[in-house]
Amino acid sequence: MIVAMQEKATEEQIDAVISAMVEAGVGVHRTTGAMQTILAGVGPTAGLDLSKFENLPGVLRVHRISSPYKLAGRGFRPEGTVIEFANGVAVGGERIAVMAGPCSIENEGQILETARRVKAAGASFLRGGAYKPRSSPYAFQGLGIDGLKVMYDAAQKHGLLTVSEVMEISQIEHMLPYIDLFQVGARNMQNFNLLRELGEVRKPVLLKRGIAATIEELLLSAEYIMAGGNYDVILCERGIRTYETATRNTMDISAIPMVKKLSHLPIVGDPSHGTGRRDMVAPMARAAVAAGADAILVEVHPNADKAASDAAQTLYLEQFEELMGQLRVIASAVGRTL
Ligand code: PEP
Ligand code: MN
Repeated sequence: MIVAMQEKATEEQIDAVISAMVEAGVGVHRTTGAMQTILAGVGPTAGLDLSKFENLPGVLRVHRISSPYKLAGRGFRPEGTVIEFANGVAVGGERIAVMAGPCSIENEGQILETARRVKAAGASFLRGGAYKPRSSPYAFQGLGIDGLKVMYDAAQKHGLLTVSEVMEISQIEHMLPYIDLFQVGARNMQNFNLLRELGEVRKPVLLKRGIAATIEELLLSAEYIMAGGNYDVILCERGIRTYETATRNTMDISAIPMVKKLSHLPIVGDPSHGTGRRDMVAPMARAAVAAGADAILVEVHPNADKAASDAAQTLYLEQFEELMGQLRVIASAVGRTL
């Protein structure tokens, strides 16, 4: 941490700040300039409440230099994390993984046809929501565990892995037999009780960025899961809410290389929720791969216009197949495969 003192700070005030830092277990290195004194603090500052120092008399500003997340930070595993799944699928390695399927699992026919086609096109995960976080309580809420069973069977038949959203702690146990990857949705990114519980589970977690969350908050949420011993966390950029209304969300492509820089965890691009528009999904999926995403998550449906949820952003299977061809070309241009 760096404490910049005000120009008019007195020697007593500087001494009081040094004492407070030492008391907090921080080693202090003082630089006395012609105008201003700077105090550099070295040591266990991650859990410190910096406002405590900012409020001391004579202090101008306090900055944190080291990251407040330790396990999620790049320094913990500089080489990067690769998460291994069954069937030889890995997320975070050279090969970009593709997760595709409807927003909601609706019926057997829908999910079987989707599984068959996305597998043939090269996807490795079948996605489908069974517990849906809908903005309206009157909208379709999902099929629950019955939906998960249908998706699991379809995935087994076609050699796919499954990913689905968990909305609350009580669902974890029921979902375990049917899913390979727990999705934590944007609305639950800071449901810290749920995150802690997923830290106790030995199954990977796909953690979506909250609608108004900063990258630091996303990484701190990952830290909650990792602090429990579950290091298999995959992050997801799914768009954030900005002042722009032309798209449902603003897909923050720059979050992808930024997360890669700050963290060792793999990151997925979700251009479906990131834009909310079918015609914008492919361009943003291509951009996400170009920017270094380790996987892509896309909503697809055999009858996209009639999807029970998120129809406006859902690709037809033919569009998905075309997109996969484009993504392969971009992947090879950035030294990856797909
Ligand atoms: C979803 O994946 O269908 C979903 C609800 O995503 P998000 O949490 O990003 O809105
Ligand atoms: Mn959706």
